[in-house]
Amino acid sequence: MVNHRSIPDFEAMAARLDRWQPVPTEVLRDVVMRRGLCLWGLYPAEEPDWDGCAPSDRELAAQLCAGCPVIDQCLELDLRIAGACTTGVWGALAEDDRRALHRVWQHHRQQQQATAQEGGLTP
Ligand code: SF4
Repeated sequence: MVNHRSIPDFEAMAARLDRWQPVPTEVLRDVVMRRGLCLWGLYPAEEPDWDGCAPSDRELAAQLCAGCPVIDQCLELDLRIAGACTTGVWGALAEDDRRALHRVWQHHRQQQQATAQEGGLTP
């Protein structure tokens, strides 16, 4: 069972999103628009059991996006488009978590570019 109260592993998330790096932004946007559950007005059918406590933003985000087939694409798209100015829920993450992820994701991509450029200089 996933514990939505614990701090997400942003490094692992950034690494997981690497597979979407070569995909153009307009393609990602199209995929999310066509397949994203919330964009079709489809939300999880069952109300979660919050054990009598008010859910955190993290828990609400996870619940809102539960079962969406394009969570990573949505996350990658939001990181590219909104970046640190992101608001609301996207990619099953609350905005504070996406801002934290954005810093890690950006650093990750810069390191990849540097590595690729170094590799390009090698004969
Ligand atoms: S991941 Fe969440 S915000 Fe993004 S399209 Fe799916 S349901 Fe909507």
